[in-house]
Amino acid sequence: MNLDDLPIRDDLRGKTPYGAPQIDVPVRLNTNENPHPPSPALVADLARAIGEQAGELNRYPDRDAVELRAELAAYLGHGLTTEQVWAANGSNEVLQQILQAFGGHGRTAMGFEPSYSMHPIITSGTSTEWVRASREDDFSIDPGKAVAAVEEHRPDIVFITSPNNPTGTAQPLATIEAIASAAPGIVVVDEAYAEFAREGTPSALTLLPAHPRMIVTRTMSKAFAMAGTRVGYLAAHPAVVQALLLVRLPYHLSTLTQTAARVALRHQEELLGSVDELRRERDATVTWLRSKGLAVADSDANFVLFGRFPERRTVWEGMLERGVLIREVGPPEWLRVSIGTSEEMAAFRAALEGVL
Ligand SMILES: *Cc1c(COP(=O)(O)O)cnc(C)c1O
Repeated sequence: MNLDDLPIRDDLRGKTPYGAPQIDVPVRLNTNENPHPPSPALVADLARAIGEQAGELNRYPDRDAVELRAELAAYLGHGLTTEQVWAANGSNEVLQQILQAFGGHGRTAMGFEPSYSMHPIITSGTSTEWVRASREDDFSIDPGKAVAAVEEHRPDIVFITSPNNPTGTAQPLATIEAIASAAPGIVVVDEAYAEFAREGTPSALTLLPAHPRMIVTRTMSKAFAMAGTRVGYLAAHPAVVQALLLVRLPYHLSTLTQTAARVALRHQEELLGSVDELRRERDATVTWLRSKGLAVADSDANFVLFGRFPERRTVWEGMLERGVLIREVGPPEWLRVSIGTSEEMAAFRAALEGVL
């Protein structure tokens, strides 16, 4: 028997699973992780905290993860409280719960492409219809066109990724506000890369009081250097959090996950300590790629989109042969490189010179 023989949903037929290749090569710059592993002090704290919890694993975890949410609220600031914060296994699960609560059959979700491809995947996975709006040639969102698209389609959910993946583009708050003011339903601002934004790029968290149907999502996977822990979270009106409680699986966040995330938050200074270094490395990478005559999108994230390569697969393969894994993603002719350590970026430059 193969997949086609199963009584699978019609809308899943012929699809392939999402996922970047997980290839074991010396330099992995393809999934926007923070390249710095946890310090020995953090590892020791984690081991101790997990050890203490291990004796109680016969019991279910705190179903509503109250202490973790309180600590995430404190981390976010902006006067946010526990009731306004929700957490799940990665911001992807947070997004799925939002679609489960506010999307579904007969409803629509809109996004501005090119953007994070999991948004349409989670949308269709919940039988919600995806409505595609476009970005400009420089990957920004034109506020006038965005408002017109929202007014035309009246989507139940609008996604705005800022800084955007895979382009790195941050949106001015005025654009987000214009879309939120026009949107009839929920507006999700996906801020997975917020900590990497350049100086003077404010967070949409500042818009929450004026826009009670806005949700800002964050993750510990990127700047926080905790991708393996699987913790994402959001800030929104307490009523939005109450809606998500209706669809979340009971005990979705394991005791081990909650414990690891709380230990990580206690070490936030160390974990976020590499963000400035990664931003400098990113800006240097943009400058270097431009000096090679390549097209490069401005980036407020920990990756850079560059091109244009009529045969991008050949370039991607050439890099892989030289031990550097980057990502074949986004608009045709472009490739994305995640920012690694200075040694990894030197290897990236050497490999790309070889390929070019
Ligand atoms: C990486 C990413 C996420 C999800 O990350 P999790 O590991 O599930 O928290 C969400 N949105 C964007 C735009 C991302 O790039």
